[in-house]
Amino acid sequence: MSAGSETERGIVVAIDGPSGAGKSTVARQLAERLGYLYIDTGAMFRTVALCVQRAKIILDDEAALAALCRDLEITFVRQDGSYRVLANGEDVSDAIRTPEISLLTSRISTQKVVRDVLLHEQRRMGRAGNVVLEGRDIGSVVFPHAEVKFFLSATPEERGRRRFLELQAKGEKVTLEKTIAEVIARDAQDEQREHAPLRMADDALPIDSDGISVEEVLNVMEKVVRRKELERKVSA
Ligand code: C5P
Repeated sequence: MSAGSETERGIVVAIDGPSGAGKSTVARQLAERLGYLYIDTGAMFRTVALCVQRAKIILDDEAALAALCRDLEITFVRQDGSYRVLANGEDVSDAIRTPEISLLTSRISTQKVVRDVLLHEQRRMGRAGNVVLEGRDIGSVVFPHAEVKFFLSATPEERGRRRFLELQAKGEKVTLEKTIAEVIARDAQDEQREHAPLRMADDALPIDSDGISVEEVLNVMEKVVRRKELERKVSA
């Protein structure tokens, strides 16, 4: 992207961090406070994983993966106050949130062909700016020139506990120990993969969400973005 188009577009807010750090909740609410578009890139990888599972594609079959990604249209719609994810028009919002799909997603997301297609798509969706994107590599790879970057984390125990409560509330039969172990396994896969591994961009603001409320995290983030908006207005 040229320097010219960077200054003309709206602000891009990147929120990265490991699973269960609370990114989705804060990213969604921050976008609402700011009136920005919200893009959940994890949901995009999850949707690919679900379609791969249904089509029974073998992970190292690059041609089949590429064809699947090419034919897949992922869209986000707002419905009755919640965000829904559509795969070629089918609402897959619930189907992509099972523990099985979480683990498969982490494996699928190591595939370069998948990352390349989604990278292109994420850049297209966020191009106009005034957007909050959450993921693992938004500040480091997808939008390395994003005006605002946050890296939200919490201990694996705390993240596992939150995920456990979420799954339990949905009636899933899970144990706390197993959920924490899954969080740790996913962290390892996300951090060690060759392409776009989970890492904090050098210019990101780290926020540790252990023991702080969503409201407090949101207030810090909103303040940073508002300051950036003001700086832009002053220098325009
Ligand atoms: O954020 P969420 O837990 O929904 O992400 C699911 C998985 O998608 C992650 O564990 C990670 O493997 C992958 N992902 C990714 N890059 C992103 C977003 C998610 O690799 N930008």
